[in-house]
Amino acid sequence: MSEHIRILKYYLFYKYFLNPGSRKMLKKWQARRIKRHIRYVERNSEIYKGKKKFKDYPVVDKKFMMEHFQELNTAGIGREEAERFAVRAERERNFVPKLKGITVGLSSGTSGRRGIFLVSDEERIRWAGYILAKFLPGKIWDKCTIGFFMRADSNLYQAIQSRRISFHFFDIYQDMKGHLERLEEICPQILVGQPSVLLEIGKEMEEGRLKISPQMVISIAEVLEEQDEKRLKYLFGLNIIHQIYQCTEGFLASTCRCGTLHLNEDIVYIEREYLDEHRFVPVVTDFERRTQPIIRYRLNDILVEKKGKCRCGSPCAALKKIEGREDDRFFFVGKDGKIRIIFPDFIRRCILFAECEDEIHSRKTAGDYRVVQENGKITVYADLTEKEKDKVKREFEKLAEDREFIMPEMIFMDYSFEKGRKMKRVEQKGPIDIMDQKNNQIFGR
Ligand SMILES: [Zn+2]
Repeated sequence: MSEHIRILKYYLFYKYFLNPGSRKMLKKWQARRIKRHIRYVERNSEIYKGKKKFKDYPVVDKKFMMEHFQELNTAGIGREEAERFAVRAERERNFVPKLKGITVGLSSGTSGRRGIFLVSDEERIRWAGYILAKFLPGKIWDKCTIGFFMRADSNLYQAIQSRRISFHFFDIYQDMKGHLERLEEICPQILVGQPSVLLEIGKEMEEGRLKISPQMVISIAEVLEEQDEKRLKYLFGLNIIHQIYQCTEGFLASTCRCGTLHLNEDIVYIEREYLDEHRFVPVVTDFERRTQPIIRYRLNDILVEKKGKCRCGSPCAALKKIEGREDDRFFFVGKDGKIRIIFPDFIRRCILFAECEDEIHSRKTAGDYRVVQENGKITVYADLTEKEKDKVKREFEKLAEDREFIMPEMIFMDYSFEKGRKMKRVEQKGPIDIMDQKNNQIFGR
């Protein structure tokens, strides 16, 4: 069977056949798939040999995955060999070759710990079918052009390519100016990229240097901040900015036609480790990934759940948003000497609640800001007037008062952001070891 027919098969399966109408049916489907998956994994993965029950599997993290890379994967690929292979592909910007028939990729670890992922052809094809079922606006046989802005191309993405669906990769390391002509020429119906890149494209459109009108804009790789989402809707004249929440560990969530972000519970099982009433850290089991099994993998992200049923009728749990990395929480010393943990959202609000919000918005660089905590100190990167800085500072002081912590030193700098990097509006730069100790203290891990 040709690759395209196999993708079509998965597309039809996920779009029309697998349609769990209720939460109960969805749970049943998950239980069946997990059981089947465990049967495979316990026979083929060295490290999981003999583990016959799901509850016997330990909760793991990135460190575990990388340390036990070889015993874990079922393709017999060593970590060093995979790493060498992936680094060479990135360096040569050639992502076609495979290692022992397996696609190898690097994940852009923001915390410095680099991850490697392995994907077989079958998994790649399934992924392509799934993603097309989720996002293709028309039918699969309609013509469609996709413009894809990414750090690295991969066999994974090229699988989507067909006679009708043309897929164009744009390297985000290259200057945007160099992309404009080709982008206008292909005039994509679907535009995919990280929010910071989409904003850059939108700005080119606003300033009349680029004429495109995508019907669908999909945000990937970075947290899509509410304020950036609003701005993107305005720039592209769309009601919904779609989101793909995907990492090395799986394709975890995507937006539905109503614009709600749903967990992809038809391909992953997600346990929740609650941080407060609505916020949780996901523990992921991908019951379709056989080459590099992802079982009870604790991600570093903080997700916020959304109560109530979505109009689209999906039984998959809805998310209010992806708040950011758990590592990006800010830590302050409380007035009682104990540590206060502040979620990224509260830091964001300090900027947004400052009355200067409208003024920031009305500028060309609309809303560009970053707040970084390093060695306890806070640095705000934004182009602000003195009056605006005062307002932002006052918001932080208000937060300090509410949460009873001592205001740390605060510095204001002009906005800057290193191209090609993942952009984070709120970022914790450590020192991480101290943060880890604090984590242990608080969560007893
Ligand atoms: Zn929905």
